[in-house]
Amino acid sequence: MKRLNQLYTGKKVQEIWNDFQNHPIINHPTEGNISPNKYRAMGKGKPCPYCGKKMAHGQSYQTNSKQEALKLGFEYVNKKGVKTINNAGGKFFHQHYITLDHKINKARCPQKMFDFHNLQYMCWECNQLKGDNNAFDLQHTRDYLDALVNEALSRYHLL
Ligand SMILES: [Zn+2]
Repeated sequence: MKRLNQLYTGKKVQEIWNDFQNHPIINHPTEGNISPNKYRAMGKGKPCPYCGKKMAHGQSYQTNSKQEALKLGFEYVNKKGVKTINNAGGKFFHQHYITLDHKINKARCPQKMFDFHNLQYMCWECNQLKGDNNAFDLQHTRDYLDALVNEALSRYHLL
């Protein structure tokens, strides 16, 4: 009965997203219609808006072999304190490999799946941290402001 409430399952939504990776389906304000893959490539080397680390992209930041991934230093400790390597489709990726994040989860709001304004660059590690948390943005901004306030208070005495 629960399934009757859903037009699409999360699995179906993911399939659609995967199927359109090379289709010019995102309406970019200056580039015109571009594919998710093209949009990802355009973010190469930009800082992740959440952790500030340079986002990786391209063949040299992915490999088919786990041994190779370990050698390349792709392994890191995730939020659960577990050593992990980003992997998808049988490939292993750099810790800060670029991803396109859906501000509003694509399974919850499939009609915004390819909407430019619902997409943002995020490194893979931060995307893992975000998970299905639609308040990640707000919480992160708060953490950032807290850190800024603490830094300012440690440098300058209150009048
Ligand atoms: Zn990041």
